[in-house]
This record gives sequence, structure tokens and C-alpha cells, in this order.
Amino acid sequence: MKVLLNNTSLFESLRPFNDLGFVPTMGGIHNGHLSLINKSNKLCEKTIVSIFVNPKQFNNKKDLRSYPRNIKKDLKILKKSKKVDFVYLPKFKDIYKDKKKSKITLLKKDIILCAKFRKDHFEGVIDVMNKLTKIINPQKIFMGEKDFQQFYLVKKQLERKYKTMVIPCKTIRDSNNVAFSSRNLLLNKSSLIIAAKIYKKLLSIKKNIKNKKNISSFLKLQKKELKNNYKIKIDYLELRNIKNLKISGTKKNSRLFIAYYLNNVRLIDNL
Ligand code: AMP
Repeated sequence: MKVLLNNTSLFESLRPFNDLGFVPTMGGIHNGHLSLINKSNKLCEKTIVSIFVNPKQFNNKKDLRSYPRNIKKDLKILKKSKKVDFVYLPKFKDIYKDKKKSKITLLKKDIILCAKFRKDHFEGVIDVMNKLTKIINPQKIFMGEKDFQQFYLVKKQLERKYKTMVIPCKTIRDSNNVAFSSRNLLLNKSSLIIAAKIYKKLLSIKKNIKNKKNISSFLKLQKKELKNNYKIKIDYLELRNIKNLKISGTKKNSRLFIAYYLNNVRLIDNL
């Protein structure tokens, strides 16, 4: 596993390869990341993982400051997996060397879910993914369905511009069904227990949707119940179609999307 600390060493090291799988991350490596890496390792000749906490996608300075960072530990886990050929650890200037501001604007119809609640977040994500794709030029990029809206928007943008394919990977959960997330490192044991209970409740909500005539008023009620029972703040609880992310009136081809704050930590999930 070769660690690439700047673009010069990256260009040199990647030149011989034309079947690259790329797994972009912000570090805090967990089993979710490792499942993306496994898939890349199976489908591509070489796998490159990036670790870059992109300041431009944080709409909240405190959130950026508290985001878990532990490069040493991350490198240890990645090395141990034996599935990673290159780790790219760019500096800010490696990514944003041209000062030219890129103009990314979301379509009005895409300003939903997290895009509605985290102003400029996806503009920052799409911008950095454009830049990383240009620098690395991978054949395939592996992204998690846990961040479904991110996968949906990045795939739409990148596949229009580059030959790269953006491949979805299933959400990996811990033994209590809580989706692995770097932000879980910010939660204490009792919060993780609540997160597991919320998952259980979401599962039963999804199951019960089938019999409901008015899904949106049913979900409104469920949202209130979740808020009161677990003392959480909920940004959204919505059933949406996975092809176009429009509000859905049926369980078919749809997922239940949630974003909520547990002890000031923002968590998202979909099932
Ligand atoms: P992050 O480091 O949080 O930016 O995530 C890097 C990539 O890992 C993104 O494509 C995420 O969707 C994916 N990912 C994060 N958590 C999970 C998970 N629990 N299961 C599968 N993929 C995940």
C-alpha cells in the first residue's frame, strides 16, 4: 500500500494503470468504507482510497472542527485490509490549486432532503468530486447508499462529464443495525442504543406504510412520535422514489429517508 502525499507522486504512481477503482472518504475508516474497498478490489485492477476532510462541504464550522480525524489509525486499518493499493492524502492546495471558483448550482428539484437543510453542502461535495475525478481519472468510483442523495447527485454530475462509472454499495450496519458512520465516534454508548431503537422504529414505519392511504400525514405523525419518544430533532422523514428522489406515494422503488440530531450529532439513514 503506497501513501501518496501530493499530486506529483500521485500522477507518477498511477500512470501505468488504466483500471482504477476509487473510494473517496473523509477518514474515520470503518466497515462501511471497507465494504466499498472490497468491491473495488474485486472489480478493478488497482484500488485507491482518498482521505480528505473537505472544508467546502461543511456548512457549520463547529461540525468541521469536531469531525473525527485519525490518519494514523486509518492507515493502519487500510494496510491491514490488504485490499488497498494507494492512499491519497491531499493537502487543501492539491485539490483547490486553481483559485477559480467553480460554479455548481443544484436544480430547484434537487434542493430536497439534506440539500434543503445543509446549505451549500452538496455544491461542495460535487465540486470536490469533480476535482478528485479529474486528478485521479478512475474507471470506477464506489459510493455508499447510506448517503443516497450524495450518491444520486454525484453519479448524475460525474457520469455526464467523465467516462467514470459511479457504483452504489449497500449500507453496512453494526450488530444493532446502526449504520456505520465516522460520526458514530462522536456518540456515547447510550446514544448508540437510542440510534438502534430509532432504526427498529423506522423499520416498522416502513413496514406499515403499505396499508396507509395518506402516507405523508402518516409520516408526519410518526415524526412527532419519534421526536417525543427519543428527544431528537428531525430534519426530515420522507418516503422518496429512488430513481428521481421525488416524494413517493407507494413503497415500490422507494426508500424512507431520515436525518436527525442525536446529542447534537447529525445522523442520516435510509431504508
Ligand atoms: P465518508 O467518509 O463519510 O465521506 O464516506 C465515504 C464513503 O463511504 C461514502 O461513499 C459513503 O456513502 C460511504 N459510507 C459511509 N458509511 C457507510 C456505510 N455504513 N455503509 C456503506 N457505505 C458507507
